[in-house]
Amino acid sequence: MSSASTTGRSAGQTLLFVPELVYFEPASLDYPKGQCIYRWAEEQGIPIRMTTSHNRITNLPGDSELARYKLAKRTLVVGVRKTLQFDTSKPSAEYAIPLATGCMGHCHYCYLQTTLGAKPYIRVYVNTGEILAQAQAYINERAPEITRFEAACTSDPVGLEHISGSLRETIEFMGRQPLGRLRFVTKFHHVDSLLDARHNGHTRFRFSVNADYVIRNFEPGTSRFEERIEAASKVARAGYPLGFIIAPIIWHEGWEQGYEELLRKLGDALPEEATRDLTFELIQHRFTKTAKRIIEARYPKTKLEMDEAKRKYKRGRYGIGKYVYPDEQAEALRERITKYIYSTFPRARIEYFT
Ligand code: SF4
Repeated sequence: MSSASTTGRSAGQTLLFVPELVYFEPASLDYPKGQCIYRWAEEQGIPIRMTTSHNRITNLPGDSELARYKLAKRTLVVGVRKTLQFDTSKPSAEYAIPLATGCMGHCHYCYLQTTLGAKPYIRVYVNTGEILAQAQAYINERAPEITRFEAACTSDPVGLEHISGSLRETIEFMGRQPLGRLRFVTKFHHVDSLLDARHNGHTRFRFSVNADYVIRNFEPGTSRFEERIEAASKVARAGYPLGFIIAPIIWHEGWEQGYEELLRKLGDALPEEATRDLTFELIQHRFTKTAKRIIEARYPKTKLEMDEAKRKYKRGRYGIGKYVYPDEQAEALRERITKYIYSTFPRARIEYFT
């Protein structure tokens, strides 16, 4: 069992995620992937339970809300994805491709806290054939335009790849699609099984990186920065287009040095082939009132600054407003980090700052 992945940052290697409990929907065992995960869970000696629906796991043990939350983050649910209509995924792609939902990471700021609400357990879907057939339909619909799919909207698929194998399958599917492209982002370094996938340059492999202060304080349960960078070098050498998402960008004491240092470390560590087709996406920290309430309950000691008085209110879709940095601060972050990126990687492309 992965102690590094439950207890947060450790100097050693971040181990592969092994759940404490696995649920199966009976129908998932009609699929080879479902059977394969079942055998894996048996071999690992993980307690196995059955559930009528992957959307209704209600009986997790634990004597407090927090204890149940922590266990949910280490509970895997194996099911059949019934909703095959994909959500949109602007600005990074046209569609979100649903390979998994939920994550074992404990990033305090993670928006899954709010979007998954009372269901923070991790779901993987075994009917990837049907999911990819749906992706094919979307690609055909938009031809001759290229259609991009984002695989990390509701999960961190790299961290689950040793269990499901779904990412490799999707990478190779997109490799065969003249008009299909895949992208995903990860905070995990377990990329070895993806290095020889036939990606054909159609998958952009992105790593989430941040200033040391942010990783140290807010990202327990994920791979260390050095592990992520080593993995980024490996995927670049394997010919994948590479990208970095700096998110959430957090205003903190010493942020200028923090982000300057981040870019310096990236510049020092990356091989030349990683810099040929390199993208950056920049996302400033934001929160909603609901997110703040949930984060404070789940991570009561968090140092995450969520003071509405220091932020600018931005009205969002469906009337749910969020708190972002005031224009002057946002502009300072954008301007400085852009400068650090271009001075380190003159050929890089910044896709957006939001
Ligand atoms: S690794 Fe990503 S998906 Fe997982 S908890 Fe952290 S931010 Fe959320």
